[in-house]
Amino acid sequence: MKKDLLDIICCPVCKEDLILKINKLEGEEIVEGTLECVKCHNKYPIEEGIPNLLPPE
Ligand SMILES: [Zn+2]
Repeated sequence: MKKDLLDIICCPVCKEDLILKINKLEGEEIVEGTLECVKCHNKYPIEEGIPNLLPPE
């Protein structure tokens, strides 16, 4: 995913902003990382460039 996507996506639980933590970057593409909600602190993984924004059980 690109960093710009952060402007569009939000926490699926509470719709708040997400904090990006990058583990692996290729050019402008974030390949692996974590998105953490500023409010509920749920974490969503980024794997193979795709953010997994499914709400946790
Ligand atoms: Zn949240």
